[in-house]
Amino acid sequence: MTLAPPVAHEGPALQAQVQDTPGMRMLYSALNHLDDAAARLNLDPNLHRILRTCERTLTVAVPIELDDGETAVYTGYRVQHTSVPGPCKGGVRFHADVSLEEVTALAQLMTWKCAVLNLPYGGAKGGVSVSPATLSENELRRLTRRYTYAIMPIIGPKKDIPAPDVNTDERTMAWMSDTYSMLIGEASQEIVTGKPLILGGSVGRADATGLGVAIIAESTMKRYGTPIEGARAVIQGFGKVGYWTAHYLAQAGCKIVGVSDVSGGYTHPHGLDVEAMLKYTKTSPTRTLAGYTTPGLETVTNEELLLLPCDVLIPAALEDQITSLNADRIQAKYIVEGANGPTSSTADKILHARGVMVVPDILANAGGVTVSYFEWVQGLQAFPWDLAEVQKNLRRFLYNAFDHVCDFSEANQVSLRQGAFMLAVSRVAEALAQRGIFP
Ligand code: GLU
Repeated sequence: MTLAPPVAHEGPALQAQVQDTPGMRMLYSALNHLDDAAARLNLDPNLHRILRTCERTLTVAVPIELDDGETAVYTGYRVQHTSVPGPCKGGVRFHADVSLEEVTALAQLMTWKCAVLNLPYGGAKGGVSVSPATLSENELRRLTRRYTYAIMPIIGPKKDIPAPDVNTDERTMAWMSDTYSMLIGEASQEIVTGKPLILGGSVGRADATGLGVAIIAESTMKRYGTPIEGARAVIQGFGKVGYWTAHYLAQAGCKIVGVSDVSGGYTHPHGLDVEAMLKYTKTSPTRTLAGYTTPGLETVTNEELLLLPCDVLIPAALEDQITSLNADRIQAKYIVEGANGPTSSTADKILHARGVMVVPDILANAGGVTVSYFEWVQGLQAFPWDLAEVQKNLRRFLYNAFDHVCDFSEANQVSLRQGAFMLAVSRVAEALAQRGIFP
C-alpha cells in the first residue's frame, strides 16, 4: 500500500527533510498510522483530508523574569487536532525538545487515544520548549502562569482542557487553574485535570497512567498465554508512569528485572525492589537512581536496557526510543507503550515481522486521560467519587477497549496498533461525517 505524503500540501523537498528531527519523525509516524488506517478502512478522502490537519495551532512567546533579574523568552505551543467528538483534551509538557511538530503529533495521538477509549473528547497537546530543571520554583510558577495566560483565548472547560504530561504535575495544574480562574473572575477548576485533590482533583489520578499500563500489560499476557506470576518486565523510565507501572506489575506477581531513569539502567536477574528504589530517589542528591546499589545489581545504559531478555518491555519515558537501529535486537515478547510514540513506524514494521506484539500507546497509556475524564465529570457535577468508584470505572473502560481492539485486530488480521487506529479513525470519521463541515 502506498502512503499519502506526510503533510497534505508539501512538496518533495519537505518530504526529504521529514526525518530530520525527533518531532518531524514523530509527526511522520503519526500521519503514517492515520494513512494506513484510512487506506484499510477505505476512508472517504474528504474526511481523511480533514483528519490529517489540525483544527487550531497556537505558538506563543513566554517571557519571564528570572530570579537574577534577567529576562528569558521561551516558546510555547497549544495544538488542537479536532473538536469533533467533544472538547479538546491533552497534556502540557515542559521539555527542551518540545517543538511544533512534536506537539502536533501528540495532539493527533490524543484524538485517537480518546476515541479508542470512547471518551467524548478530541485531541490537543501543549508544551513549552524549556529545561525545567534549570528553573527555580518561582521561575517555573511564572512560566506556567504566563503560558496559561498566552493560551487563554483557546482553552476552557468546554473548549480545551489541559493536563499534566512530561515534567508537569499537580503543582503545575494548580497554577494553571488559579491563573485561569483569576483572569476570568470566577472559580473554574474544571479548566484542567490532574489537579491536587484539595483543588478539585480526583482520587486515583496520580497513579492512573501507570495502573492503566499495568492493567493492559496483564491483560495482554493473560490473553496471549504468558503466566503473569514470575513474568519478567523491563521498564524504561521511573517517573510518574514508569514507577507506578512497576509498582502495580510487581504487586500482580511480575518480576521487575530492569528499570531506568536519566541516570541509566539498573537490572537484577531475581527482580528489583522498586519500592526501595523509589525511597532512594526521594533523598538521593540528584533525586534520581544515580548511586543506587544492592547486592546482585548491575548497571546498563538506557540503550542496553531496551535489549534485555524479558517477557514484557515497557518504554515509559520519551518518544523515539525503539527505532530501526534497535528493533531487530529487542528480546521482549510484548512491548506495552507507556510513553507516547516510543516506537517509530519503521521499527513497528520490523517488530511486527519478528512476531513481537506491540500494544500501542493510544491503548496502553490511556488510563491517565480516562481518569482525567472522570475528574472532569466529577468537577462539572461538583460531586467527588471514592477510589473504588474511580478504579472500578477505569478497569471497565480499559478492559472494554482492550477486548475490542484485540477482537477487531484478530478478526481483520492486523497488528494491535493498526486495529486500534482503525477503530479510532472510524469513530472520529463517523462523528465528522454526521456533523458535516461548518457552515
Ligand atoms: N498527558 C497524558 C496523556 O498523554 C494525559 C492527558 C490528559 O489527561 O488529558 O495521555
